[in-house]
Amino acid sequence: MTRKTSKKKKAPRKAAKKKAAPKKKANKKAAPKKKANKKAAPKKIPRPKQEWVDEVLAFLEGTHPEVTTALDWRRPLELLIATILSAQCTDERVNMVTPVLFERYPEAADIAAAPREDIEEVIHSTGFFRAKARSIQGACEMITQKPGGEVPAEMDALLELPGVARKTANVVLGTAFGITSGVVVDTHVKRLSGRLGFTGQIDPKKIEQDLMKILPQERWIKAAHQLILHGRALCSARKPKCELCALAARCPAAE
Ligand code: SF4
Repeated sequence: MTRKTSKKKKAPRKAAKKKAAPKKKANKKAAPKKKANKKAAPKKIPRPKQEWVDEVLAFLEGTHPEVTTALDWRRPLELLIATILSAQCTDERVNMVTPVLFERYPEAADIAAAPREDIEEVIHSTGFFRAKARSIQGACEMITQKPGGEVPAEMDALLELPGVARKTANVVLGTAFGITSGVVVDTHVKRLSGRLGFTGQIDPKKIEQDLMKILPQERWIKAAHQLILHGRALCSARKPKCELCALAARCPAAE
């Protein structure tokens, strides 16, 4: 009688050991994190040869001689706001939204004083509308407090405005005021600069520094516009059309 009772009691222990197995599987799933870190690392590359830089600039000049921003604007204030709205949004979409916004609220003071919900409603389709409305109203409030109530034409003053980083400041200074203060590094310029071997950096500020070293200053504004157009036309993010690109013979990223 005593022996039968002890055998039955041992069984549940074995079952408990089997249930512990899923923990090992969970550890295996963590692997993709390492891959993501590898992608984000900047590469050390040699400075590109000047003749290659000149070839790229000549190509861009030949294919896109007349360039400017695709955003619609009439005054620096409109360009500033359109550029803030263009983050993570197409220029076409921004151009559909800004006429409504500026008709309802023509001046910086009007935008600053508007109910936040109204601004959010007008710009809703550009995405990230809450953050953009906050930036736009904050920037307009600061502008109205400045002497003359105008958009500043200096890099440092522009960078003080909410929602304005170097890319937006460079767009406003270069396009609205004709002041060459840097290179606009958007997603296209970032991608093409890497593919063309102009930079191994991934941080836009460092990419801009590399481009400012190798591009002649008088081409800083125009070359950025041209790179954006080349990115849209042939050198797309997903599948560049290298077979149609005149740079393919020497481009380090040609497929
Ligand atoms: S050759 Fe290809 S990767 Fe290089 S710039 Fe032209 S389209 Fe882009």
